[in-house]
Amino acid sequence: MIKHNKPTIGPEEKKAIDRVIRSRFLSSDIEVKKFENEMSNYLKLGDDNAVALSNGTSALFILVNLLNKKKRDVIIPSYSCSSLLHALRLNGSNAKILDVDQNFPNLDTKLIGKKKNLIIYAQMYGLPSVIPMHLRSNLIEDACQSLGAKVKNISVGLQGIAGVFSFYATKIITSAGQGGMIVSKDKSLIKEIKDFINFDMRKDDKFRFNFQMTETQAAFGRAQLKKLNFFISKRKKIFNFYKKLGLNLMENKNSDINQVFYRSIAYFKNPNRVIKILKKNKVECINPLEKFELLSKNNKYKNSLKFTGKTVSLPCYPSLTTGQLQHIGKALKEIKSEF
Ligand SMILES: *Cc1c(COP(=O)(O)O)cnc(C)c1O
Repeated sequence: MIKHNKPTIGPEEKKAIDRVIRSRFLSSDIEVKKFENEMSNYLKLGDDNAVALSNGTSALFILVNLLNKKKRDVIIPSYSCSSLLHALRLNGSNAKILDVDQNFPNLDTKLIGKKKNLIIYAQMYGLPSVIPMHLRSNLIEDACQSLGAKVKNISVGLQGIAGVFSFYATKIITSAGQGGMIVSKDKSLIKEIKDFINFDMRKDDKFRFNFQMTETQAAFGRAQLKKLNFFISKRKKIFNFYKKLGLNLMENKNSDINQVFYRSIAYFKNPNRVIKILKKNKVECINPLEKFELLSKNNKYKNSLKFTGKTVSLPCYPSLTTGQLQHIGKALKEIKSEF
């Protein structure tokens, strides 16, 4: 079976972990600091603009905790990762869930009123949208699926107060299975976050919580970050291969947008049938977000519903071999009538 997604790992990651083991520094030290600065520089920010964390969900929680002190409702999209909702629940904030845009499964900003509620804006599938200026001062940009993507030549993650990345096993890069990062141009916010995750040896009695990244995670993540541009170009090649087959793929042709092809998502009239047929041909594909996963359970949000009922996510990751891709291509050509 050709897997729908899996991490791409080489000898560099092994060497990185060996380096950490030899050093005997395992918790949070030099590798974490280097990973933070390398990420920050990759995004064209200077040093000290990033905090490495245990995962993307804790990154979201920390930001909500620091930016929504009055516990107002936080605006999130219905079509997204349930992580957003859990981050709010841990913080004790309620969600105001809205529908997504009709063309891309990112929040429909036209639905956001004038009130200054905090917004978590998820940039889904490596397909970022330009966020209107007037919303940016109250907004967390969830770039967990869009590392390396650009909006008007600015890296995704920098459009709001802060950006969040995930290095879970199957994200664009991984830090040994779990990991996350907050980036921000606001250095005082970064300082506040570092203070929050470091509870040890404190004289004051402030609420803090340990969400730190380990040296092993950071060393692994650094090795992956070095390959990021290669990963992105491989993903793009796979996407273009699918495109040449004549599939109707989710794509942003706006020249302001540089997408990163975290997913190759094709529209089909009957996604379930397509998934079944491909499975018989030993190709694993998924509905990238099922109806039951929508964060709003009222089923009134027509764009969110539309995406759950029409899409199939095809295998798209750097370690997919040419042979595997040819095999998938052949299987897809046999179901042209489903396109
Ligand atoms: C993966 C993901 C998260 C959560 O990140 P974890 O590292 O798995 O906790 C949050 N938001 C989006 C959009 C994601 O894709």
